[in-house]
Amino acid sequence: MHKIKSDESSIFFIFKINCQLQNLFIFLHRNKSKKMKIGILGGGQLGRMFIQNALNYDDEFHVLDPNSDCSCAYISHFSQGNFNNYEDVLAFGQDKDVISIEIEHVNVDALFELEKQGKKVIPNAEIIKTIQQKILQKEFYKKHNIPSPDFEIFDGTSEEIKIKFPFVQKLNTGGYDGKGVQIIKNADDLKNLWTEDSVLENLVDIDKELSIIIAKNENGETKTFPVTEMVADEKLNLLDFNICPADISSEVQSQIDVIAEKFIKSANSPGLFAIELFLDKNGKVWVNETAPRLHNSGHQTQEGNANSQFEQFYRTLKNLPLADTDAFGFSGMLNLVGEQNYSGKVKYEGLEEVLKLPKTYVHLYGKTETKPGRKMGHINVLANSREELLEKLNHIKTLVRVIA
Ligand code: ADP
Repeated sequence: MHKIKSDESSIFFIFKINCQLQNLFIFLHRNKSKKMKIGILGGGQLGRMFIQNALNYDDEFHVLDPNSDCSCAYISHFSQGNFNNYEDVLAFGQDKDVISIEIEHVNVDALFELEKQGKKVIPNAEIIKTIQQKILQKEFYKKHNIPSPDFEIFDGTSEEIKIKFPFVQKLNTGGYDGKGVQIIKNADDLKNLWTEDSVLENLVDIDKELSIIIAKNENGETKTFPVTEMVADEKLNLLDFNICPADISSEVQSQIDVIAEKFIKSANSPGLFAIELFLDKNGKVWVNETAPRLHNSGHQTQEGNANSQFEQFYRTLKNLPLADTDAFGFSGMLNLVGEQNYSGKVKYEGLEEVLKLPKTYVHLYGKTETKPGRKMGHINVLANSREELLEKLNHIKTLVRVIA
């Protein structure tokens, strides 16, 4: 019998190790690029635009939503169910490789349970829970030294309110698109205070409302998008325009960079986050709130940047290298919302005029019914200067109407 000599055995050993390393590499590579079952809680426009983009890759997209006619219903593997219901979320997550959200008001207990079962939940249940409740969210900023307007907690029965007038009351849960937020100007207004659990916070003398979107993958790589200015429609209390990049000084940009860095470190979770900010009239930046998901303030990245927020979100779900976010120039977005006094089957007036314009991109959300203030779509615009961008956005605003 041939006896293996010691130098032969060491070559054999090295060969074996080499094979094992190769197998490990192939396994890791396959695992990363393998087709995944991606489950999203919520089937609205954010999910729709995510899937639209992610169809560039070979995955399966599953959506849970109560509405069988939602924006994602016909472009995904659709499950009808309530993302606020423990059993529905738990059942939905069972056969998915990764579970994520396109709305933060979901059943977080089910997400904790899925994590316990070893499922991948991005962003993690803990940060979703923190953000869901305004009180926890404000305490999170305070704990991590992230500047956010001073506040006190109101349980609806507090005899004594210490915060000075004017202040802002924000409901602990259930607020969205400006609902659940009110300004209390003076003692007279105290009779209007809601009696639910809420946060009372200092009113900021706002110069600009801004947003920064930051993403982190499981490897710990992070990347931001350029800061965006958000201009609200005063009547609707809804985002009206985005302007990117924001017109801010390098000093303000540095404050925002520090905030984004602190946030992503403290959140301790992969995912994509939109941090909404106030720039006050003294040049100080404050965090208003954070969305642990895709955000309206990032829609213009679809054509305005080397890669969109939707692409970046996909990469966080698959732990892929994060995408280049460079802006091509000036970009903006105009929300298409249902006009006042119109409800029913939607008609887009003036859209053909808009389609004739250069560097203008229409995105509709597949919603058949309009109602006042409902977000039905948006229009992205590219320009060579801020002035040109504003001119284009204002012009388009006069052309198009969402009616029934
Ligand atoms: P939502 O999440 O429902 O959109 P926000 O917390 O963003 O609610 O508040 C809606 C709007 O109210 C903000 O965009 C801002 O214009 C105003 N607002 C909220 N908090 C403050 C504050 N502390 N000071 C001044 N304005 C505020």
